[in-house]
Amino acid sequence: MSDTATNNRETNRETMGFQAEVKQLLQLMIHSLYSNREIFLRELISNASDACDKLRFEALHNAALFESDSELNIRLSYDTAARTLTISDNGIGMSRDEVVNNLGTIAKSGTREFFSRLSGDQQKDANLIGQFGVGFYSAFIVADKVSVVTRRAGEKTDQGVSWESDGGGEFVIEMVEKAARGTTITLHLREGQDDLLSGQKIRSIIRKYSDHIVQPILMKKEEWKDGAQQVLDEDETVNQAFALWARSKSEISDEEYRGFYQHVSHDFADPLAWTHTRVEGRQEYTQLLYIPGKAPFDMWERDASHGVKLYVRHVFIMDDAEHLMPHYLRFVRGVVDSNDLPLNVSREILQESKDIEAIRAGCTRKVLGLLEDLAAKDPGKYTKFWGEFGRVLKEGIGEDFANKDKIAGLLRLASTQADTPAETVALADYIGRMKEGQDRIYYITADTFNAARNSPHLEVFRKKGIEVLLLTERVDEWVVSNLPEFQGKPLVSVAKGGLDLGQLEDEAEKKEQAKDADEFKELTDKISVSLADRVKEVRVTHRLTDSPACLVADEHDMNANLARLLKASGQKLPVSQPILEINPKHPVVLRLKVEEKKFDDWASVLFDQALLAEGGQLDDPASFVKRINQLMLEMSGG
Ligand code: ADP
Repeated sequence: MSDTATNNRETNRETMGFQAEVKQLLQLMIHSLYSNREIFLRELISNASDACDKLRFEALHNAALFESDSELNIRLSYDTAARTLTISDNGIGMSRDEVVNNLGTIAKSGTREFFSRLSGDQQKDANLIGQFGVGFYSAFIVADKVSVVTRRAGEKTDQGVSWESDGGGEFVIEMVEKAARGTTITLHLREGQDDLLSGQKIRSIIRKYSDHIVQPILMKKEEWKDGAQQVLDEDETVNQAFALWARSKSEISDEEYRGFYQHVSHDFADPLAWTHTRVEGRQEYTQLLYIPGKAPFDMWERDASHGVKLYVRHVFIMDDAEHLMPHYLRFVRGVVDSNDLPLNVSREILQESKDIEAIRAGCTRKVLGLLEDLAAKDPGKYTKFWGEFGRVLKEGIGEDFANKDKIAGLLRLASTQADTPAETVALADYIGRMKEGQDRIYYITADTFNAARNSPHLEVFRKKGIEVLLLTERVDEWVVSNLPEFQGKPLVSVAKGGLDLGQLEDEAEKKEQAKDADEFKELTDKISVSLADRVKEVRVTHRLTDSPACLVADEHDMNANLARLLKASGQKLPVSQPILEINPKHPVVLRLKVEEKKFDDWASVLFDQALLAEGGQLDDPASFVKRINQLMLEMSGG
């Protein structure tokens, strides 16, 4: 809070400054969300609904909080003369400290990340703000002054708090009397927003965005009489006020499903797909789970929000129920409503509960099934999904042993058959187009797509037309170390161990290789001595067609890409030296056979360039450059 707060003892009035991020968000929102202005109502109603949910939940342990008013609802009214719109709930309310914190700062995780991603492009930022969750502050899109009066359930009636702000840098708070528990928010509309002062308009916005809110949203009935509109002293419920997921599938339109998604996810955009099932048997529960169209901005934060809400017999229990979904499906949004769990279930109980384990396994299977379906029936959509969430789903290969094969079936990987990383192949399709005699799935891991695609290790595969998977994401190392095979075909790194192409090579080729190994024995021995402290072994290879040399890791050693990743993340590693393989057909290698004087320099350059070609870093780049220059000068007769 601002330290320039002024305090007037008599009225208890205090002026405080917004946290800097709030000021920034307010400015952004007012300017970039203007064309989506109606969402302010959805956000305020959603907060009111959450407040009712929280009260019901707390009242499970303390029924006195109901203060003899247990009919939870949300009320809307407007005043054409005063040009105000009022949203009121009898939910949990807020104490003074809560008001200061909730309506003066942004407590969300990932706030810094959010601000760093803003581009200044209104369209893009509007989307991002939507994902971030605009919440209460969106009131300022349509209002130039907002006042809140609230009292927390259980507090005395003189412990009400009022909060008021014009959305500039400050707000004023004051203790007030408030008879009814809950929160009332009054919006003083900006110039040009008068169309919101109509019962018809407000009702249509509620039906559009808030129909699925569980609590009734009440408005005074209206009728036309003698050519003028009369507001009657009688309430009517504007929304359906019934848990959407508890209705039967056939009664719910796609539009309602989408509307509900926006409510649970706070996402502006449509979901990619959803699954809605009632599970019966030992565990009875309903699940309505969505795959979003876009990755949330905080997906890579350590404490990223989980989007599944837990209900028990329609009573809201908690948000972010991370035990309902495995970590690698953290992008899933939706609701699980259990019939069997006790109402007083806590996070600690959830962690231990066998029932929750069963629900989680069921939800996981459902989501994976939904993805399989999408992949089979709508590959275009699945590609979109993969682009947004593929990297996260890959984590599941190492995380979820029971579903490993299913997840492996969902992988889409870049390969040498395509020109861009976006054109991917499923493992099953890779197997389907394997060459005759091929019994392995070949892959290479590297830092970037180009480094992988142009790696010398691929030369013989290209020559023989064998497809190789190009794995360039960090998580891929984790994937391949946890996935030794798929459908009975082993996954094999092309940069590791001796290259055994099995039946992909004929007898003549094998004979020639044996002959080369003999013929070059003297040379490989000599290089071994020269590079003794840098290589484990030097040998002749048939993997190369164009390059003179390459490095490979020994069968049981860590591959070079993984070693680099671990080193970059600060881990201390046992040093395992690579094997240098040389191409017996290459002119440089043939030339080396007869080199005497400069042999050590040549050997060193051969090693260094092999290291560079696979994306490694030279220990002593300056010496490498010096040697290269000398060799160039010699060649030009210098
Ligand atoms: P979010 O809802 O995403 O947390 P908001 O800016 O909408 O963010 O609201 C901030 C917080 O203010 C809420 O988390 C809630 O604790 C509190 N709040 C907002 N509206 C109400 C309300 N009607 N009743 C009680 N608390 C509220």
